[in-house]
Amino acid sequence: MSLTLSCPKCDFETTESLAKCPNCGRTLQSAKKVRILGWVLVLLGSFLVIFMGGLGIILGGIIAGSGQPGNSSRFTGGPEDVLFIFAIFGLVIAFGLVSVAAGAWQIWFGKPNKILRVTMFVVAGLLLLIGSMVRFLD
Ligand SMILES: [Zn+2]
Repeated sequence: MSLTLSCPKCDFETTESLAKCPNCGRTLQSAKKVRILGWVLVLLGSFLVIFMGGLGIILGGIIAGSGQPGNSSRFTGGPEDVLFIFAIFGLVIAFGLVSVAAGAWQIWFGKPNKILRVTMFVVAGLLLLIGSMVRFLD
């Protein structure tokens, strides 16, 4: 059972000890390796969700408490800035959640889930796009 090999590119699967995929020539991954990578994704994803979630709550508190007397921290941005910040936070958290889902799938089935991988790339691409926009605005 642990000898099942799968291709990361196409959906080829085999129990034979082949080194490369006969369909596309990619190096085959063992279910064990896919599961270890799955744990890495789950850990990274949960870290992102917890870290960004916590940071978002702190930031939300600063924004909500801004301008009140006796408050040391002040948020000087407008409503668009708030929306922008939370869009980035939301995307990073979404990326973390998809990573956890993709990792959990890999641990459970011993092979990657294409749709979840594509979703990860799309969310990461959106983040990079927003990140480059921030740099451009500065
Ligand atoms: Zn293949």
